[in-house]
Amino acid sequence: MLIDIKSLTREDLKARFKAWDQPEYRVNQLLRWLYPRRVTAWDAMTDLPGPLRERLRQMYSLQTPELLRKQGSRDATQKFLWRLHDHSLVESVLIPANPALYGDASDRQTLCISTQVGCAYGCKFCASGLDGWKRNLTPDEIVEQVLAVERDVTSDKWQVTGKQIVPRAVDNLVVMGMGEPLANYENLLAALRILNAPWGGGIGARKITISTCGLAPQIRRLADEPEQFRLAISLHGATDAVRNRIMPVNRKYPLKELVAACEQYQAKKGRMLTFEYILIAGVNDSMEQTRPLAILAKKLFAKVNLIPCNQIVGLPWQRPADDVCEAFLAALERQNVAATLRREKGRDIDAACGQLRLKTEKQLLKA
Ligand code: SAH
Repeated sequence: MLIDIKSLTREDLKARFKAWDQPEYRVNQLLRWLYPRRVTAWDAMTDLPGPLRERLRQMYSLQTPELLRKQGSRDATQKFLWRLHDHSLVESVLIPANPALYGDASDRQTLCISTQVGCAYGCKFCASGLDGWKRNLTPDEIVEQVLAVERDVTSDKWQVTGKQIVPRAVDNLVVMGMGEPLANYENLLAALRILNAPWGGGIGARKITISTCGLAPQIRRLADEPEQFRLAISLHGATDAVRNRIMPVNRKYPLKELVAACEQYQAKKGRMLTFEYILIAGVNDSMEQTRPLAILAKKLFAKVNLIPCNQIVGLPWQRPADDVCEAFLAALERQNVAATLRREKGRDIDAACGQLRLKTEKQLLKA
């Protein structure tokens, strides 16, 4: 199989074009077709000479995922289910603004992307890991989720204006879809660098949030990278007892180690941490839990994002009653923690965490 052209950085392409005796401005021409214009065929790149296009075609693939299903409406959460070349299914979710993560309401859009097919970490409440891990996504498969969504949601503008450079649709990126991003570290970083680059996706590093279930060594590694990516920790428990019950990864990297890695991240990057905390009835929603959670949040200057858990078919977990969630939030605020409670978007369209994929795979199996 060929490497996809959208797994390559500008530097990679420069080296390749140099070896081919192509002038450097050809790299910029190519990049304009790939990213701002988001074309999907070599033949569309009309200012590249034919022989060069042919050479590129022989050397690299130019893939786009197939849109298998789309749910939701333009002004609400939209969920995209993609089929990849090997027929694996992954999801991306486009969410209008996300004040919980970025602090202000606006008309901006956040895209949630996947990094693996399935997941190996087996968090007990999460649909993504129910069928285990299948493979890592390649950098271009991560990048293409953004481009393909932008193509889809700006397609009418493209036709109306007839312009080749179409408006962007994704302002913020959260790497919170299927898979554990830090377990696909190299490909994740390669993709995010392309999405972050001015010649590529043009999304600022501070508008990109990587979410992890708590891989402490990789958090330390990320702390040493030059980019200022935001980091979200899927905490879901502020004691080892609670975390061990719902997140097997905590046995490998218990809280003490996770927190030490987060401290390093905080020291290097500043206030870039969010704790995600799914509220599950009778598991982690008692008032007692707010104390260790507040202590951790204050120690790391982290915001806490409370998320009443979604019901997943086949799993026993229940979301707490609304007043329990509100009381949990109020208790954190009383302890001077910056916290938000997600009044969810997209619950009716299986927007959470691998649920659409799971349902579609079951339907495909039956058919
Ligand atoms: N592996 C990474 C990224 C994927 S999961 C990580 O663990 O962070 C990202 C988020 O999905 C979780 O933190 C949680 O916020 C959400 N999630 C998973 N299962 C959920 C459920 N049943 N209800 C609500 N949110 C869920």
